[in-house]
Amino acid sequence: MIEFRDIEIKYNDFIAVKNLNLKIAEGEFFTMLGPSGCGKTTTLRSLVGFVSPTHGSIHVNGKDITQLPVEKRDISMVFQSYALFPTLNVYENIAFGLKVKKMPKEQIEAEVAEIAQKVDLSQAQLRKKVSELSGGQQQRVAIARALVLKPSILVLDEPLSNLDASLRVQLRNELKSLQKKFGITTIYVTHDQEEALTLSDRIAVFNHGAVEQVGTPHEIYSQS
Ligand code: ADP
Ligand code: ADP
Repeated sequence: MIEFRDIEIKYNDFIAVKNLNLKIAEGEFFTMLGPSGCGKTTTLRSLVGFVSPTHGSIHVNGKDITQLPVEKRDISMVFQSYALFPTLNVYENIAFGLKVKKMPKEQIEAEVAEIAQKVDLSQAQLRKKVSELSGGQQQRVAIARALVLKPSILVLDEPLSNLDASLRVQLRNELKSLQKKFGITTIYVTHDQEEALTLSDRIAVFNHGAVEQVGTPHEIYSQS
């Protein structure tokens, strides 16, 4: 379980997130929803370790991780902009984190093959340069690169918003079934209500740096 306890995050004097308390259950698909600038990404970054809260603490399975460095948190992140290595091929992009961990070559090959199949990337695509792929394929690679590390938490920041509408719906459905298959605790950031509604077990509605409402899609949408 993930717990945000009374989190405040400032950029200089500007309070980007305040009085934030959230509990996210193991295996849950949890979405942070709200307009641009309301503090979703900042909250997500505090979980991953890219920003430090100015107040409060973050706990994972009872352990306080607030001061832990990024690489010790067992969390993988997928960005809106994919953040892949453009000069490496797809295989090398997915394998990158496993190489850093010094996993043996044969095992890396097996892990990459398995994940590529799950996210629907072909053998031919594995040999392509990332720059030769479409946006949707690149985001599949980014998701594969995150999942191949078998993190206990997956976080995604607006992962579909650079894609055109039909691809967005297709990848959304794939993401949902992948999450179910892996049962991985997933935190998802979006400003898109329909995405939040379709994907989430629960949604936190953000406004001006604070959480206004937390509930299932049914609870959120029947009250508004
Ligand atoms: P969201 O993800 O909901 O769009 P963000 O968490 O990115 O919101 O931003 C929340 C607020 O904090 C915004 O007003 C934004 O301009 C500000 N902010 C974000 N990052 C920084 C930063 N590095 N320095 C200063 N202000 C920032
Ligand atoms: P998002 O769409 O996730 O909210 P943005 O496109 O707003 O992100 O921000 C892009 C980058 O600029 C991020 O690294 C964010 O932290 C930073 N940033 C956002 N707002 C500000 C700001 N007011 N001052 C400085 N950096 C900012």
